Amino acid sequence: MTEPLALYVHWPFCKSKCPYCDFNSHVRASIDEARWRAALIKDLEHYAALTRGRPVTSIFFGGGTPSLMSATTVGAVLDRAAALWPFESKVEITLEGNPTSVEADRYRDFRAAGVNRVSLGLQALDDTALKFLGREHDAKEALAALDVARRTFDRFSFDLIYARPGQTVAAWERELDRALALAGEHLSVYQLTIEPGTAFAHAHARGDFALPDEETQAALYEVTQARLEAAGLPAYEISNHARPGAECRHNLVYWRYGDYVGVGPGAHGRLTLEGGRIATRQYRAPETWLEAVERNGQGGEEPTALAPEEQRDELVMMGLRLAEGIPRARFRERLGLDLEAALDPERIEPLIEAGVIELDHERLAATDAGRQRLNAVLARLLG
Ligand code: SF4
Repeated sequence: MTEPLALYVHWPFCKSKCPYCDFNSHVRASIDEARWRAALIKDLEHYAALTRGRPVTSIFFGGGTPSLMSATTVGAVLDRAAALWPFESKVEITLEGNPTSVEADRYRDFRAAGVNRVSLGLQALDDTALKFLGREHDAKEALAALDVARRTFDRFSFDLIYARPGQTVAAWERELDRALALAGEHLSVYQLTIEPGTAFAHAHARGDFALPDEETQAALYEVTQARLEAAGLPAYEISNHARPGAECRHNLVYWRYGDYVGVGPGAHGRLTLEGGRIATRQYRAPETWLEAVERNGQGGEEPTALAPEEQRDELVMMGLRLAEGIPRARFRERLGLDLEAALDPERIEPLIEAGVIELDHERLAATDAGRQRLNAVLARLLG
């Protein structure tokens, strides 16, 4: 098998826990980084044995806060990966980070280690909002870090969070315009959601703050799409905008339902092997994962074979996030079925009439309106 492969490496540690965050991120007083480095490498070796010879198109260090890793660890992981798999010539290597001065001081070393793209969690451009979001940086520090990123990497992106309490459309438009003046070729813009179990979930339930009403949220979404599209950064995914050709190639692998290896606590993978497609999942708790790798040579639960219907659901859930939708050929390649055999035409038809789905001889796609309420569309499409 020569199908390309993406690699995801999860670094689960953060300096503090942001109140809105439900990622697998943890705060520890100290960690033994050499031990973590060795375990990440061991986990990579385990998956390399299953996927030998397949070309790696992208590597993504996500978290947690991977910019808290030392460049030594990043470099050691990349060197080992390059010894285990062939890399495509334009391999994209992204590292997520926070825009603090301490981390910005490491950008040059990350580049020397092989990283060629950074994605920074700015989240907002004003200090009151950053404080509310529980971020470690203020706007001034973030802009300075962004400037270092711009000078260090050819490719960089940053994240913003909107639909914050009290945010008006006019204020968000001004913030977006400032962001556009700072942006490169890629921007991720997420709507604030209250995730169960987070500090925000408790505060929200207590009535400490309220999110903008539905109408304002829809207006904020629409103004985001229009503003960024007019600036040459159209949405290629619900929350991701890029100049055509500058999309995050790693994330496209997920949305196009390609194959990827995931190492580190809580990381997921999807692999097509001789016997079919499997889902892999690493233990979520950092220390459980670490000890499992040291004991067994890998930190995952038993992989599960994905049934044809599960594969169809995943392919559709991922693919409809993208503006490009899902080419008909992908149904045949991935599922061995034509689109009309994979999906019930009687479910598709009313969604087309409602203006949330488009279907032609080349592809199935959600319209702009459909992507805005994708969960409801998927529920009706997949049942
Ligand atoms: S820095 Fe990122 S991963 Fe860490 S707690 Fe905050 S939002 Fe979550």
